[in-house]
Amino acid sequence: MTDPLDAIVVGAGLAGLAAATRLVDAGRSVLVLEASDAPGGRMRSDRVDGFTVDRGFQVLNTAYPELRRLGVLEALPMRTFDSGAYLRAGDDLHLVADPRRVPAGVTGLVRGPLGSPLERARLGALVAAAAYAPAGVLRRRRDEPFRDLLQRHGLAGAPTEHFLRPFLSGVLLEDRLTTSSRFAVAVLRTFVRGDVVVPDGGMGSLPALLADRLGDRVRYGARVAAVRPGAVDVEGGTTLRAGAVVVAADPRTAAALLDLPAPAMHAVTTTWHAADRAPVDRPLLVLDTEGGPIVNSVVMTNAAPGYAADGRALIASSTLSAEPLPDAVLTRHLDRLWGVPTAGWQQVAVTRVPHALPALPGGSPLRRPERLTAGLYVAGDHRATPSSQGALASGRRAAESVLAGR
Ligand SMILES: Cc1cc2nc3c(=O)[nH]c(=O)nc-3n(C[C@H](O)[C@H](O)[C@H](O)COP(=O)(O)OP(=O)(O)OC[C@H]3O[C@@H](n4cnc5c(N)ncnc54)[C@H](O)[C@@H]3O)c2cc1C
Repeated sequence: MTDPLDAIVVGAGLAGLAAATRLVDAGRSVLVLEASDAPGGRMRSDRVDGFTVDRGFQVLNTAYPELRRLGVLEALPMRTFDSGAYLRAGDDLHLVADPRRVPAGVTGLVRGPLGSPLERARLGALVAAAAYAPAGVLRRRRDEPFRDLLQRHGLAGAPTEHFLRPFLSGVLLEDRLTTSSRFAVAVLRTFVRGDVVVPDGGMGSLPALLADRLGDRVRYGARVAAVRPGAVDVEGGTTLRAGAVVVAADPRTAAALLDLPAPAMHAVTTTWHAADRAPVDRPLLVLDTEGGPIVNSVVMTNAAPGYAADGRALIASSTLSAEPLPDAVLTRHLDRLWGVPTAGWQQVAVTRVPHALPALPGGSPLRRPERLTAGLYVAGDHRATPSSQGALASGRRAAESVLAGR
């Protein structure tokens, strides 16, 4: 006979790993059941022909409090992107960047396609307020679709079309900007306050680190078929019992297991190319001011050379759809965005993520309770904000509810 477990966690994505970490730190016995063969869920990396290919282009931000709390930023070698973007407008590629960190970025702020002096001043005021207003003030603000807030602030023209929409649609994975204004403002805040980074070993190094710390408490190839307070049925017929069950499966599976409404999910597809020469030297995204189908494209190896084993450039280009663009269309838009011929780039991989991020429309709560009933909890980005910070925070909070017995 073995002692009964204190908790079973369903899913070894960021939320499940964060929940298990917090419980283990508090001395509780925990088993994590993961359906697939490795940790990470939506944050995984593969090695393809010597390249590191993340399952969809994604990044971390050093301003995420949960990364600090978990000691991840010290434990993993991180590579940093510049703080800004290239904006493609006709024949011009404008560098728009935080001049405190990239002095050359000031020219794009003043002479780039961000609108009239009045519009640029309004944009500056919005970003400064997002970055530096006390968090409590931002939390108390009315929540609405972000585009409504932009309209009220007189930012609906060039600042939105040439910068905020292309930039944020790559983060929120939706381009109508109907996402919660409080979350969109929080995103701007983290971008000003923190650095955009990726682990040198790929995004999957983060969940791999957390899973390593948990050792044999994580069981792979264990798909949970049903849950109830204090028990789970694993596919194949085993029933396991514990004081608490934390369901940290992906949003749609969690909804099915728990009979909750399934959130709408946004899709993204990233195409990964290798090129003998990078089209630019800086580690910055290129964004399209002309509303083309590529939401962003970035030379990963300009920030993280370890993403390529052979010194070539690795470029990630994303579209907001579950299917890739036809090759000829992709090449035409890449040529235009980068201003160089890209037909010779070698396609390394295509990552389709049909259910990448849960929608968080304006007016949604940024936090939903993790405790459903005694002995049954739920965690994941769908209970908080659609981000790694949201997933990690939700997992930690679920564990704290378990520890508090409420
Ligand atoms: C392409 C893409 C780009 C992104 N970009 C960013 C970004 O730039 N910045 C940012 O902060 N966030 C980004 N995110 C969001 C971030 O990756 C997610 O919010 C986070 O990884 C979600 O973690 P989770 O633990 O909530 O869920 P998941 O990662 O979905 O984990 C759920 C886990 O549960 C397992 N599971 C499912 N069903 C079962 C079952 N029945 N039994 C056992 N196990 C099960 C799954 O296999 C999975 O491992 C991006 C996401 C994607 C997909």
